[in-house]
Amino acid sequence: MAATPIPLEVRNITKRFGDTEVLKGLSLQAHKGDVITLIGASGSGKSTFLRCMNLLEQPNEGDLIVHGEEIRFKTTKHGREPADWRQVVNMRAKLSMVFQSFNLWAHMTLLENIIEAPIHVLKKPKAEAVEHAHALLERVGLSHRANAYPAQMSGGQQQRGAIARALAMDPEVMLFDEPTSALDPELVGDVLKVMRDLADEGRTMVVVTHEMSFARDVSSQVIYLHEGRVEEAGRPTEVLENPQSPRLKQFLAPNY
Ligand code: ADP
Ligand code: MG
Repeated sequence: MAATPIPLEVRNITKRFGDTEVLKGLSLQAHKGDVITLIGASGSGKSTFLRCMNLLEQPNEGDLIVHGEEIRFKTTKHGREPADWRQVVNMRAKLSMVFQSFNLWAHMTLLENIIEAPIHVLKKPKAEAVEHAHALLERVGLSHRANAYPAQMSGGQQQRGAIARALAMDPEVMLFDEPTSALDPELVGDVLKVMRDLADEGRTMVVVTHEMSFARDVSSQVIYLHEGRVEEAGRPTEVLENPQSPRLKQFLAPNY
């Protein structure tokens, strides 16, 4: 029997902006149900690493394997780029990203936001997409806001809406880039609750976060980045409760 492919595998990614190398050989394996949290100081490369995973940024070197399929690259005069953008489009349908700034489309209602990609990318019949969207809205506690426009919703509602939109693609892996750090403190809890539920139901997730209690409770692995390198990685009980690197100890200090 063939083994189930690993949802996401990243091998030895490097990324340069001009002469500055901001990712210096990063790897990660997200098996089914893993919740991998990326922590580290501002500028350590967390967002760039996450963006390289779905090729919003093009890594200069390294391999990306999504659900067993290796992304092919070619080298042009502009540098390295995907050999086949259709492969990237298919890959992105398997990796949904939720950003720090809740980026729902402003000119669409919440429901329209959620059904857009299922209809146009997955070619789902509209009635089916709408039915699924209502079920997702219920899950994130937004049934009453289906016809609201983003500007009429709180930041926390918009972010839960963005999570529902990501879920509508039934992604293999969900990528989160500091999904709660732009929220007013009283709105953070509802979003983290939705994310905890996703982790509990076995979703594979890679999460950049500063929420250490979330990282401690739900992570299968915590990766601490420093200047584009993995400084320390392991289970949350090791990395967060018994850090070895002096830098990580200092980074975590305000939480003790
Ligand atoms: P983090 O998310 O951990 O705060 P980033 O991945 O955003 O870190 O940034 C890592 C480094 O890469 C920083 O030094 C940042 O200034 C630089 N950087 C990020 N994006 C770009 C870009 N588009 N052009 C040039 N430098 C960038
Ligand atoms: Mg960032």
